[in-house]
Amino acid sequence: MKQIVVLGAGYAGLKTVHELQRKADGSFKITLVNKNSYHYEATDLHEVAAGTQPKEKITYEIADIVDPKVTTFIQDEVTSFDPEAKTVSLKNHDDLSYDYLVVALGFVSETFGIKGAEEFALPMTNVKEAEAIHAHILKVMDDYKQDPDPDALNIVIAGAGFTGIELAGALADGRKEYAKHAGVTPSDIKISMVDAGTRLLPMFSDGLAEYGVNLVKSLGVDIITDARVQEVTDGKTIYVFGQDEEKTPYELTAKTIIWTTGVSGNPLVDEAGLKARRGRVIPTEHLTDADHDNMYVIGDVAAVMPPDGQRPYPTTAQIALAMGKYVASDLVNVVKTGSHLNEGFVYKSLGTVASVGNTRAFGVALGHETRGYMASATKKMIANESLFKIGGMKEVFKKGRFDLYH
Ligand code: FAD
Repeated sequence: MKQIVVLGAGYAGLKTVHELQRKADGSFKITLVNKNSYHYEATDLHEVAAGTQPKEKITYEIADIVDPKVTTFIQDEVTSFDPEAKTVSLKNHDDLSYDYLVVALGFVSETFGIKGAEEFALPMTNVKEAEAIHAHILKVMDDYKQDPDPDALNIVIAGAGFTGIELAGALADGRKEYAKHAGVTPSDIKISMVDAGTRLLPMFSDGLAEYGVNLVKSLGVDIITDARVQEVTDGKTIYVFGQDEEKTPYELTAKTIIWTTGVSGNPLVDEAGLKARRGRVIPTEHLTDADHDNMYVIGDVAAVMPPDGQRPYPTTAQIALAMGKYVASDLVNVVKTGSHLNEGFVYKSLGTVASVGNTRAFGVALGHETRGYMASATKKMIANESLFKIGGMKEVFKKGRFDLYH
């Protein structure tokens, strides 16, 4: 019986396990390893960070998905994997051996070596970090009552990409709560964003990107563009304007600084000696590592090139789910016949929709631009569909965004 080990129970890993379980015929056993006992909807982390959704609304137990007849779930941290020895090392369990490995270890925050960013800015790449952001905001707001330092009411987001924009919208929704803790009015809470780009949201057309930026600004969020963060200190985000030859430093002062300038793939991928850049491997058409035919690299640790493109597809939950589905089919074929499927992985994006708070959004769905309340409804439907793809209808009923229909 073949041993398949899956590392990571995010969108890519859990989708692989879900599909493999459906195809199980006694020819393979699965071992799934994940740090936490739960899967989290990484696409909704900004809502937990802002406090507009509780953690429970975006997490669900992996045990609910796992079929113990086929899959053994180990809750532990992967410390390394060795593609030559075909072993995986874990923090608290014995090493695992495998015939086939699926690496789906997701993303980490990318600070590009900017001084002070790791020390003084808050990352938002998992549930614990998102909860820590919300707890931090409430604490500085509570402290404001004892010591009314105006910086306590300032929140700075470094990075106005897709994630930063979604976070700004959620924080704008959260203002009422923060103001209550600080004993001020919501408009006293100042949210600012700083980004090196001059044209934000490059994944959208000029008109749609402008609409999104203006939507966020209309909620009272300042957006400073063409501004490169040079350093973060305790309470200060220091930046220079791109065109400024003199490099005159400017600063935003705030007791809350959140880092959303980008993510890279899990560093364990680099440490395993794979040909990777910033934790991402360019996989073969079957989503395997070019040097290890029995190892799949999927989700945010993969940089998949479109057939005619120069740049890889953006890493998203949507492509991670598609990769998980493909890998399960390919793996079953390999186990049964010894060879890969005739067809390589083909991806067609359904679109991308960014939420700006609970009731507004903008983006592209099925080739059409969508804005405002309808876009928000579409976004919630996409979220419901992703829950369905992994967890089945039970999870959708439990956690689905049914406020959509109110
Ligand atoms: P992940 O979802 O990161 O899962 C990786 C799993 O591996 C996690 O469960 C983690 O705990 C586990 N893990 C990591 N390291 C270890 C270890 N050492 N040992 C054991 N387990 C480990 N995408 C979209 O398509 N649409 C969106 O609207 C969208 N919005 C987003 C909003 C935000 C705020 C963010 C942060 C991301 C958003 N994305 C969106 C991107 C999307 O979330 C990622 O592309 C997606 O999560 C990648 O899936 P994955 O399975 O590769 O990794």
